[in-house]
Amino acid sequence: MNPITHLLVSWTVAEAAPLDDRDRAIAAWAGIAPDLDGLGALPDLIARALGYGDPAYYGRFHHALLHGAFGAVLISAAGALCARRRWSAFGWSLLAIHAHFLCDLVGSRGPALDDIWPVPYLAPFSERLTFAWSGQWALNAWQNILLTLLLICFVFFRAVTAGRSPVTLFGKAAGEVFVETVRARWRRLRRSSPGTDG
Ligand SMILES: [Zn+2]
Repeated sequence: MNPITHLLVSWTVAEAAPLDDRDRAIAAWAGIAPDLDGLGALPDLIARALGYGDPAYYGRFHHALLHGAFGAVLISAAGALCARRRWSAFGWSLLAIHAHFLCDLVGSRGPALDDIWPVPYLAPFSERLTFAWSGQWALNAWQNILLTLLLICFVFFRAVTAGRSPVTLFGKAAGEVFVETVRARWRRLRRSSPGTDG
């Protein structure tokens, strides 16, 4: 799935965690981190632009290096080192990362129609336990769009009811501005609705 949907899924999983804001943020970021193995696209681009051919780092490492048990443990352990409640943060990070794997398994097909992305669970050490689903839908399929819209609705719901949002992941102040703006709009909407007296 695309990084924004992954971010929303991961943040939603972390929202269920009985952790403080910092440890929840660690778990949320952990759920996006497997896609760091796609950063090989950058040296690929530079090498091609400079006429050195295509080293194909993206094709070799994306969905291979960090999209399995090794990546899940490595990322969760790295996050836990920075957490206050280390074991809880580790466990919730593992959960967020596996939600990422599940999302990739069901909805990351493309660009070709038969271009199904597997999740090689024992990579990079073994090709055993490689999961693939023949019904995998495309990256830009309606299912991904619907899921993203539902998650955005949940973001607004949590901003109003819990005073939290994924914007906080990019900065506490930005998160507070977002929550306050959403709550102010919600209050105004309620006041202007017929049948409510504020
Ligand atoms: Zn992924």
